[in-house]
Amino acid sequence: MDRSFIGKKFKKYSSLLCFIISSFASNAQEAYWQMEVRYDMDIEFDTKKHQFDGTQKLKIINRSPDTLSKLFYHLYFNAFQPNSDMDIRSNWIVDADKRVGTRISKLTDKEIGYHQIETVQQGNKKLKWTMDQTILEVILAKSLLPGDSTEITMEFESQVPIQIRRSGRNNKEGIDYSMAQWYPKLCVYDKNGWHANPYIGREFYGNWGDFYVNIEIDNNYCVAATGYQMNTSDVNCSSKTDKKGKSKWKFFAPNVHDFVWAADPDYVHESFTRKNGQVLHFFYQPKEETKEWKKLPAVMDQALDYIEKNFGPYPYKSYSFIQGGDGGMEYPLATLITGHRNLTSLAGVSIHELMHTWFQMLLATDEAEFPWMDEGFTSYAEYETEQYLKKLGVLPGEKPDSIPYKGSFDAYNKIIESGLEENLTTHADHYHTNYAYGIASYVKGALTMVQLEYLLGKDVARQGLLDYYWKWRYKHPTSDDFFRVMERRSGAELDWFQEYWIETTKTIDYAIDTVYSDGKKQCKLILERVGLFPMPIELNVEFEDGSHALHYIPLDLMRAEKSFGMQKVNCHKSWHWVNPKYEVLIEEPLQKIKKITIDPDQKMADINRKNNVLIIN
Ligand SMILES: [Zn+2]
Repeated sequence: MDRSFIGKKFKKYSSLLCFIISSFASNAQEAYWQMEVRYDMDIEFDTKKHQFDGTQKLKIINRSPDTLSKLFYHLYFNAFQPNSDMDIRSNWIVDADKRVGTRISKLTDKEIGYHQIETVQQGNKKLKWTMDQTILEVILAKSLLPGDSTEITMEFESQVPIQIRRSGRNNKEGIDYSMAQWYPKLCVYDKNGWHANPYIGREFYGNWGDFYVNIEIDNNYCVAATGYQMNTSDVNCSSKTDKKGKSKWKFFAPNVHDFVWAADPDYVHESFTRKNGQVLHFFYQPKEETKEWKKLPAVMDQALDYIEKNFGPYPYKSYSFIQGGDGGMEYPLATLITGHRNLTSLAGVSIHELMHTWFQMLLATDEAEFPWMDEGFTSYAEYETEQYLKKLGVLPGEKPDSIPYKGSFDAYNKIIESGLEENLTTHADHYHTNYAYGIASYVKGALTMVQLEYLLGKDVARQGLLDYYWKWRYKHPTSDDFFRVMERRSGAELDWFQEYWIETTKTIDYAIDTVYSDGKKQCKLILERVGLFPMPIELNVEFEDGSHALHYIPLDLMRAEKSFGMQKVNCHKSWHWVNPKYEVLIEEPLQKIKKITIDPDQKMADINRKNNVLIIN
């Protein structure tokens, strides 16, 4: 999506200046906990049948204060069967994802996906379990007490579905196996209890832990995966051979909450080592349609310079860009992206998915509950990174946008006009339309950061985002946690903003009502809050001589003022939100004034900018 800062010359004013707000509240220690897991998996793959046998040893350390008598697992492949919840939902939703549509309903037995559970054991005790489509419920023989750990061994047999959505075999570009959401995955238990959401095609949430995954597959395959390959001297993409038999690929991924892999006989593996030692891996089928992949390492290297400086360091040793999937999808230490793209599109999707390392893979929010926190912040950071690359001239023919986030504001306004907008607190699976989910998560989510820039100043908002990274990485932050970090950084009260922006669909609309001369030396301006959503107001007054003056009207509810850095600002008394109108005294005669504009930088999500401008002379 979109943005940059417009520098301005401001007329010097004698009235008081707004000062930077930076009172830090004391950082009380919350009683935070999260579960801990370790997965050890052995997979034996049959490429003729597109099936595999798996053994999973799952160690669970119960860090919660509760005793657990049962466990829930996701069995995502079971969604790819006729009459599954995902199939039914896709059949009736008015704007079905074209990749899904009615395709699941037409799958044959050999094309469906499934997980068949053979045995589940706790120690040497066999456990009872029930399966309800994509959710497996396991009754423990011995309850798991707070602070205790247990090991669950599961044997399963799975079939990889024809690729419908994200995961599956034979994607449209001819990648054999895109193996996402492919194993029995423990649901998250957190302060709100179990999150055993049936899978209908979107949003994930996983427990933090280490993954050890061994994959045995035909010798002619090259395998790419989350984490680090531990036996590169035994097997690698250059050592693949047409000789009969299988090779075992061993991977390890430390402190992650999911594991993806992909396999294809035609992959090449190229790598690029950055100055700081980080290694970027690229796995793709070399052909005319993928020729831009050769340019991708240099672009991603420059992108990472900006990303690490602005959003926090990338803490793992490597990252893999893997051709596969059905668009772009994020996983720990890796992404699956379709590869037949021009450089701008390839860089765009690569940056977006890489940015999810920050907003989901490290700041591991419950995506179903807070999709705007991963897709929104990712889209914001992607846009900012792309603007930087466009300024550098790295993307051919691309220039930075003159009005940042214009496309996002337009898309937001359009859904408001349609009447289809839903609150950002809606659970991702339960939006009535894919359209409403998309705008809420990606567009309004990204605009959340733009609104915080407007409220607090770009530097403070960005510093807050960095604080959020340092305080919450490797954890499961919530909406409240994010806003508390922003409050601590800025000293502002933001609960009113969180309530209006996240929990309602109320909108912002401010207008200039009238201006009149009030004697020879001053004039009075009447502003009107037309929408229900209160905001502080920035006003730019342009004079006949070409100079400008910026005026700022704080909002009472915020209990603080924005940081304007070195800019001169005329600060007025707070606008109490209950008042629909506000009078501004401007200490200049009316005849000197040419134009007055509310929100001159166009950062506030004002749904009607036409009434923001008054041309006087
Ligand atoms: Zn995304």
